[in-house]
Amino acid sequence: MPVLVMKFGGTSVANLDRIRRAAKRVGVEVAKGYDVIVIVSAMSGKTNELVGWVNETSPLYDAREYDAVVSSGENVTAGLMALTLQEMDVPARSWQGWQVPLKTTSQHASARITEIPTDNINGKFAEGMRVAVVAGFQGISEEGRITTLGRGGSDTTAVAFAGAFEAERCDIYTDVDGVYTTDPRICEKARKLDKIAFEEMLELASLGAKVLQTRSVELAMRYNVKLRVVSSFEEQSDEAGTLVCDEEEIMELNVVSGVAYSRDEAKMTLISVADRPGIAAAIFGPLSEAGVNVDMIVQNISEEGRTDMTFSCPTDQVARAEKAMLDAKSAGDINFHDIVADTAVAKVSVVGIGMRSHAGVAAKMFQVLSDEGININVITTSEIKISVLIDRKYMELAVQALHDAFELEKTAG
Ligand code: ASP
Ligand code: MG
Repeated sequence: MPVLVMKFGGTSVANLDRIRRAAKRVGVEVAKGYDVIVIVSAMSGKTNELVGWVNETSPLYDAREYDAVVSSGENVTAGLMALTLQEMDVPARSWQGWQVPLKTTSQHASARITEIPTDNINGKFAEGMRVAVVAGFQGISEEGRITTLGRGGSDTTAVAFAGAFEAERCDIYTDVDGVYTTDPRICEKARKLDKIAFEEMLELASLGAKVLQTRSVELAMRYNVKLRVVSSFEEQSDEAGTLVCDEEEIMELNVVSGVAYSRDEAKMTLISVADRPGIAAAIFGPLSEAGVNVDMIVQNISEEGRTDMTFSCPTDQVARAEKAMLDAKSAGDINFHDIVADTAVAKVSVVGIGMRSHAGVAAKMFQVLSDEGININVITTSEIKISVLIDRKYMELAVQALHDAFELEKTAG
């Protein structure tokens, strides 16, 4: 029988009523003839609560015990979902990660999946079980310890199962009805996309559109898993939601598919560093060791052998970045006159696969921002994305103006 993977996020299993509702959706797919693998998150808010308990108990916690605690939310929903299905006379049982066993690396709290053997679950399907309910987000390391895959990790569990079981599709049930051209809370003209290419989704996911964990999209792209983002709160047809798929399956590629933003950005500038070979390595090496996620980088032209180096990172990493730079300065590895942090900036990006074959998108974006009187601090581009760093107070205006200028309200999706 064909296999379908259905993943239910925290809000979709937030209480017993919602679990019943989700189970009914599963029942519909079983009736259609699918063997279903259901991946569940913890009830909404549960993982945060568990993380809070760990921090309160032990601020410098042992990551192995952190994983033992925070993985437990999913165990509860997996069991409850299996019970609910059984009450509906659907043959189902639950599986914790280690029972599958979903094998991972030993990087606790951000483990990577290394293997999902299919024989256990397939054996049960062969005996007539119709639904395997699997606790998302968790696995087992080579040392036999429980691991978790990082926040939002059940998306990745779901896609990995879809890949391993060669599922027809992986449906991600969530509290939004799909992927939008931009955030509808900021721009009322935002439209739901019917289809979006993996690469575009990857850019949007990593740019702060929080629908899917970025790694799940990477995995879907690698194994060509058809991913559908769909609301668990609306009546569903097979065409509902947004299909994240290979670009070959999209008839007309949009030049621009979406405008993404990320609010919590900071811009840091090292003023007057010596412009010599190895200077970038001497700056960004320590930043990376300090766990600072540097995003955009600009090096100015130098004057008299000295230059300014600007980079962006998340606002909550500014203190860490400053410390790393001051330490490197005291160690004599780098030398600068001053370090300046601007924590009131935001990143706005336009994303679209059609940009590859279309000139002029950047020019148009800059013109739109200029017409609105918005100053651009830093620019970066990739083949299918242009990002700018601007003052945060203009972020919403920029998103709306770009959405209008690229006529995204008209995208066919
Ligand atoms: N419950 C975990 C979290 O909140 C994993 C997930 O829901 O994807 O991050
Ligand atoms: Mg999620």
